[in-house]
Amino acid sequence: MGIAVSPIQIDSRVSDFISKPRKMLIDGKWMDAASGKTFPTYNPATGEVLAQVAEGDRQDIDAAVQAARKAFDSGPWSQMTPSDRGKLIWKLADLMEQHLEEFATIETLDNGKPLTVARAADVPLAIDMFRYMAGWATKLEGTTIPISMPHAANSSYFAYTLREPVGVVGQIIPWNFPLLMAAWKLAPALACGCTVVLKPAEQTPLSALFLGELFVEAGFPNGVVNIVPGFGETAGAALAAHELVDKIAFTGSTEVGKLIVNAATGNLKKVSLELGGKSPNVVFKDADLNGAISGSASAIFFNQGQTCCAGSRLFVERSVFDQVIEGVAAKAKKINVGSGLEPKTAMGPLVSEEQLQRVCNYLEIGLSEGATAVTGGKKMGDSKGYFVEPTVLVNTKDDMRVVQEEIFGPVVTAVPFDDPEELMARANSTIYGLAAGIWTKDISKAHRLAASLRAGTVWINCYNVFDAALPFGGYKQSGWGREMGKDVLQLYTQTKAVCTRL
Ligand code: NAP
Ligand code: MG
Repeated sequence: MGIAVSPIQIDSRVSDFISKPRKMLIDGKWMDAASGKTFPTYNPATGEVLAQVAEGDRQDIDAAVQAARKAFDSGPWSQMTPSDRGKLIWKLADLMEQHLEEFATIETLDNGKPLTVARAADVPLAIDMFRYMAGWATKLEGTTIPISMPHAANSSYFAYTLREPVGVVGQIIPWNFPLLMAAWKLAPALACGCTVVLKPAEQTPLSALFLGELFVEAGFPNGVVNIVPGFGETAGAALAAHELVDKIAFTGSTEVGKLIVNAATGNLKKVSLELGGKSPNVVFKDADLNGAISGSASAIFFNQGQTCCAGSRLFVERSVFDQVIEGVAAKAKKINVGSGLEPKTAMGPLVSEEQLQRVCNYLEIGLSEGATAVTGGKKMGDSKGYFVEPTVLVNTKDDMRVVQEEIFGPVVTAVPFDDPEELMARANSTIYGLAAGIWTKDISKAHRLAASLRAGTVWINCYNVFDAALPFGGYKQSGWGREMGKDVLQLYTQTKAVCTRL
């Protein structure tokens, strides 16, 4: 089957943006790489080169870190009032809103996701993240603490704490939600008064670079936000190891997360990690089954399955197993797969040739180990784009690789269960602990299970609900720390205790 990719008129501002080689943002200026090198970013719907981007490496990272250091240690950023900092972040959000369409188109061209999704989810959520965090800039408070000093009973003290920015932050982000991940990282760091060097993913650098233009337009002082595209093994590794970086925040694979931890040991910089997942999604027989079927399908198929919290292990109570699997498979078959620019597309291509190979490889492994595809199971069509069939696998065993390892594609494994105790143990039996879903009308049962699931987020009768106010992050090998909400402020501030003898 072929996949139609009809020529679509692209906004002239976007075609202008992608027609020129994109530079990196260092100290408020747009620079070529010190090496002069560029690398291509591709349109995953066609496999064609979309744009050329400056290839940052150690020297560029060093220049960016020096700029961020200067801006933090002595620049106007440190003197700015929290209120002015908040206003600047809000202004950036306003500018983003004015450019919502361009952001959505860039995201679709570079990542492959449906334009309708980028427009309704990725970009508005990113804007909201900046607005939510703009409000926190003025609310970072310490406390006054009465102290007793039992061994110096006759002296008295006045003690308080300050919440201070952690300093220069290195941020490394993935390709699945390029703009949104940039927002999750940048917004809290800036609200807290940190300065940043951001390295976007090599597959999707464009929306972060477009955002960089708006940081300049909004009037952020030079060096506060530096954006250096490049490869993980070179630019990313140099950032993670840099001695002048106080903290590194990373989102990506668990494997690379461990490399980041090692790289950070040189100066013991602080580390936060948002890593992979293999999240259980549990449907009980007393659920609203129509809702559970639609919700379970979108839990895995949203964003082509390239979501760290995707509901990739479906557990269904045995008496409704066939009905639910039939329903999810029927939804999978009806998904319109195609170029993200087509208005009717509900699922785009995977992000890269490499990701397509990876997912297809997992499908072959699963099928050869005895799993059966109720629907899907292979690459889709003969187009040059990276399309894969939405897939439902049954007859799996809990120790199979397709059940244990993160596939990061539109592939769900489904198993029946009988007993809630046994279910809980099976649901928790992976190295990951990012998210989980529960579908039931029995609210006590739902809360009991929510308490026993080792996961950073539990969705009850819903899935993939994100909000700037709601903390998100992983148990076990799914990460360290929480992004969003009030919790993320812990990652970008540190506490100073001040004690005065009266
Ligand atoms: P990845 O290698 O973990 O990439 C994430 C980010 O880390 C990218 O910016 C990457 O740069 C950078 N990076 C890679 N190696 C690095 C190193 N040694 N030091 C510092 N930074 C480094 O993920 P991927 O290879 O793109 O995807 C592989 C798998 O990771 C996926 O199939 C999926 O299972 C998982 N993943 C998870 C998430 C998530 O949200 N939790 C997101 C993406 C991928 P480059 O882009 O230049 O390599
Ligand atoms: Mg691309």
